[in-house]
Amino acid sequence: MKRLEGKVAIVTGSNRGIGRGIAIAFAKEGCKVIVNSHKDSKDAYDVVDEIKKLGSDAIFVVADVSKESEVKNLIKKTVDKFGKLDILVNNAGILVSGSVTTLTEKDWDRQMDVNLKGVFLCTKYAVQQMIKQGKGGRIINISSIAGLVGFPGISAYCASKGGVTELTREVALDCAIYGITVNAIDPGVIVTDMTKSMLEDEPTKKMLMENTPVGRFGQPEDIGNAAVFLALDESSFITGHNLVVDGGWTAR
Ligand code: NAD
Repeated sequence: MKRLEGKVAIVTGSNRGIGRGIAIAFAKEGCKVIVNSHKDSKDAYDVVDEIKKLGSDAIFVVADVSKESEVKNLIKKTVDKFGKLDILVNNAGILVSGSVTTLTEKDWDRQMDVNLKGVFLCTKYAVQQMIKQGKGGRIINISSIAGLVGFPGISAYCASKGGVTELTREVALDCAIYGITVNAIDPGVIVTDMTKSMLEDEPTKKMLMENTPVGRFGQPEDIGNAAVFLALDESSFITGHNLVVDGGWTAR
C-alpha cells in the first residue's frame, strides 16, 4: 500500500524545482496532484505526464497565488476534478534581491504578495474546503532558513519567510480542532533555478558549501521526502512545527 493512496494534493509552483520534487514524491506514494504555476508552461505538462507514468493522476491549473480569484479557481478546479482536497503545499515563491536601503516599495510589495499573501490566500480557501469535508487535512508551507536567520542583501525575502514561519504557528492553532495540521519546511540551499546564479558564481558557491556541514547542496527530492513525512496520516500529532532541512546550516 502506498502511503498517500487516495489523497489529493495541491502543490503550488510545481512546474519545476522544489515544487516539482514534492509533486513527484507525492505521486510515488499514490497521491493525486494538482500541478500549479502562475503561467502556462510546457514543464508543467511534463510534470503531469511524469505523474501519470508513475500510475497516479494529475492536472495542471494555472493560478497566480497572489490573486484571490485565481486561488478560488484553483480550489474549485481541484474539487471539480478529484472531489476533495486533502493536502495543500504552499511552495510557490520568488526571490527579490535588495538590502533595506536599495529595495523599492514596488519590489517589497511583489515579494510579499507572492511569498506571504499567497500563502494566506491558498491556506484560507484550502482550509475552508477541508473544514467542509470534515476529515482533517494537511497544510505544508515551504518557508526557508532565511525565515530563521538573516541573509544579507535579501531583506524582503527574509521578512516574507519569517512571516510564513510565524503564520504557520498561528494557523496551526486555528486549525487544530479540525484535525488539520499546519507545518513548515525550512530548506537550506537546494539546487533549483532560484539558486542557479549563486551556484554559478564560484566564490558564492564556496561560501554556501562551507556553511553546509553535510558537504552537499540539497536536491528537490530532499524536500519532497520531508513533505511526504508531514503529509502522512501518522504525522497527525505534529503541528505548528518548523522542519529544518538544511544539511546542518542552522545547527552551527
Ligand atoms: P523556482 O524558482 O525553481 O520555483 C518557484 C516556483 O514558483 C516556480 O514553479 C514558479 O512557477 C512558481 N511561482 C512563482 N510565482 C508564482 C505565483 N505568483 N503563483 C504561482 N506560482 C508561482 O524556486 P525553488 O527553489 O523551487 O523554490 C520553491 C520554494 O522553495 C520557494 O518558496 C522558495 O522560496 C523556497 N526555498 C528555496 C530554497 C532554495 O535553495 N532553492 C531554499 C529555501 C526555500
